[in-house]
Amino acid sequence: MNCAEAREGLSAALDGALGAEELRAVEAHAASCAECRRVRDELADVRRLLRGVDDADDVPGRTAAIGRGVLAAIAHPPPTEADLDRSRAERSGIARRMVWTLVGGVVAAVLLSVIVGTALTIWWVRHWSGLRAANPPGASGPAAPAPRSRGRLIVSAKDRGVRDQALALFKDWSGDIRVDQADTDNRLFSLTVDFRGQSDEVERLKRRLSDLHDANASVLMRWEFSITSD
Ligand SMILES: [Zn+2]
Repeated sequence: MNCAEAREGLSAALDGALGAEELRAVEAHAASCAECRRVRDELADVRRLLRGVDDADDVPGRTAAIGRGVLAAIAHPPPTEADLDRSRAERSGIARRMVWTLVGGVVAAVLLSVIVGTALTIWWVRHWSGLRAANPPGASGPAAPAPRSRGRLIVSAKDRGVRDQALALFKDWSGDIRVDQADTDNRLFSLTVDFRGQSDEVERLKRRLSDLHDANASVLMRWEFSITSD
């Protein structure tokens, strides 16, 4: 039997609610425990006091109720300084465990993020170097198809050289092209070019033709140049 059980037993004994065997167990504990012995003796004193009050008082119910409250207070005394120290120690132990649990959680989280971060970095580097291997720098790669344009140039000039120069501008044309040339009896040299190619190449052609036009405006009988997006 421990102290708490002994105090319960002492309290029950006051109400006459304790059997002979339990009473012996409480007495055996009190015999070996100075603190519980002290409580038992105080209870006995209070019981004697209450008996005297009960005898003098004609409101026994009220007295008994007060007496039970007093006895309960003695049987379950407020915590002593030692008890408080013990519970403070327990609380600080709990706090220490909580702190260590928290520290452990933080350390685990940091480790996890390092591991995940490293794995992601390795994956990214491998993925990226794989992409580089598939598309070495400088290669256009599987980019979106370049915009394309189509156009038509019609030139008629009294000078054959103008027509030849215009034709020369198409010498290295990389796209589709169709060329018609015609010479007339009155020495009019004509050229019709239908072409199709990447838009930036068409823009370069447009600038060169513009220069050619400006340089030979005096001999041109007809000049038409039009482009449209594909
Ligand atoms: Zn005890």
